[in-house]
Amino acid sequence: MDQVRKIEASIIDLWSEKYRAKEHLEGERCTVCGKVTSQQNKGLGVIVGDGGYKIIHPKDNEKEIKRDPAGYMGWWAVGSECIKKVPKEFQTRLGK
Ligand SMILES: [Zn+2]
Repeated sequence: MDQVRKIEASIIDLWSEKYRAKEHLEGERCTVCGKVTSQQNKGLGVIVGDGGYKIIHPKDNEKEIKRDPAGYMGWWAVGSECIKKVPKEFQTRLGK
């Protein structure tokens, strides 16, 4: 099986204190800063694997599910500001 492209998830602070402090807010929230994501965000986010330690390349999503189903954590919303820290090719919209 060929390689799954992935990067360190530590480039952004997923499930940060800020995120956890805003758990009372309703709707889709940025997993980094906890703010409710706007419509303008168009559902941007990242796919998380390796139990939260890696961001998976969207095109390798299926491969990763087969490779490490236990560590696979699926898609998480990231707001329009926080997503700027993620290389473009690793940004993905839900269901893409
Ligand atoms: Zn954010």
